[in-house]
Amino acid sequence: MEHTTPGRGRQLPDIRSLTQGDIKDLVAELKQPAFRAKQISEWLFDKSAQSFDEMTNIPKTLREQLAERYAFNTPVEVARQISRDGSRKYLLQFADGVAVETVGMPNRSKLAVCISTQAGCGMGCAFCATGLAGLARSLTAQEMVDQVTHVARDLGERVTSVVFMGQGEPFANYDNTLAALRMLNSEHGHNIGARHLTVSTCGIIPGIRSFSKIPEQFTLAVSLHSAIQSTRNQLMPGVKKYTLLRLHEALQDYTAATGRRPTYEFAMIDGINDTDSEMRALCDFCEGTLCHVNLIQLNNIPDSPLRPSPSAKIEELQRRLASIGVEATIRNSRGSDIDAACGQLKQRIVNAR
Ligand code: SAH
Ligand code: SF4
Repeated sequence: MEHTTPGRGRQLPDIRSLTQGDIKDLVAELKQPAFRAKQISEWLFDKSAQSFDEMTNIPKTLREQLAERYAFNTPVEVARQISRDGSRKYLLQFADGVAVETVGMPNRSKLAVCISTQAGCGMGCAFCATGLAGLARSLTAQEMVDQVTHVARDLGERVTSVVFMGQGEPFANYDNTLAALRMLNSEHGHNIGARHLTVSTCGIIPGIRSFSKIPEQFTLAVSLHSAIQSTRNQLMPGVKKYTLLRLHEALQDYTAATGRRPTYEFAMIDGINDTDSEMRALCDFCEGTLCHVNLIQLNNIPDSPLRPSPSAKIEELQRRLASIGVEATIRNSRGSDIDAACGQLKQRIVNAR
């Protein structure tokens, strides 16, 4: 394993990238008793420590030895905004200067967190502030988990659910997303139940197919926004090649394989996807399948001609879906006064320190 020397301007490796086996080897190499490995692992994984100083049952000399070789590359909070509804949006910056937005949504005894999976997004959806700004880079699994840890520590609460609905397309970063889901689900981590971990995809079919095959019961949401191909192509040019026909098939296979009910997200845009034929097409897409629909009034984004549908249209679509036995929820966006609502998380690159 390569070790970098402190003070040379090179970044030390993150100690949290070590496996339990690596930690045992390290402890042996430092001629420390074996039980120290267990203590260190507990700090790193069970307690989500973010510095060596927190490891109070580890002798100072050993902490110093660890700090010579490893670091905690945790993100730095460079800005925060607190909404009237209690939601908090954080701008978190990683060591390379790239920053992402994370939202914490406390509600009575629950704490939901919305995390980013990429800095920016390359899918280019016409109605999404993140999509309009392009992709900077994908995040690592640890960087996703660190967003959750940051919110948990800031509010001093256990996180009860996580939605992967911030910046980025999770299935364009599939392996890291799955690793993060597993870390959050692990009892040696945040220990969040699989059903309370939700991934939202714009409809990347190979991702949905792989997701069908994993044993955990994570929740899947799919951004549909139109069940008419030409409209969807215009709204979501990045997923043109994954046609609605094939998407429908993949979702049927998903429900057959997992017995789980996917959520379809439908952001209603005035005059675009709230017409009679659009409503009919959505009903056809859903009828007879296992699904739940979330109807969201489009959140305004700057410099966009797209406008939210009137509430009456949203209620009409909900009624039409109900009449064919499809459950639909009209979702209120939280944090819209701080631009933290869906699609309003915009990539901002903050200059490196
Ligand atoms: N890339 C993933 C997850 C992040 S976007 C995806 O697209 O599913 C999270 C959700 O916000 C998606 O359903 C997305 O379509 C929706 N969204 C994006 N912009 C929006 C806007 N302006 N108003 C309402 N919802 C929006
Ligand atoms: Fe990316 Fe999702 Fe925004 Fe589309 S809606 S640009 S996939 S973050």
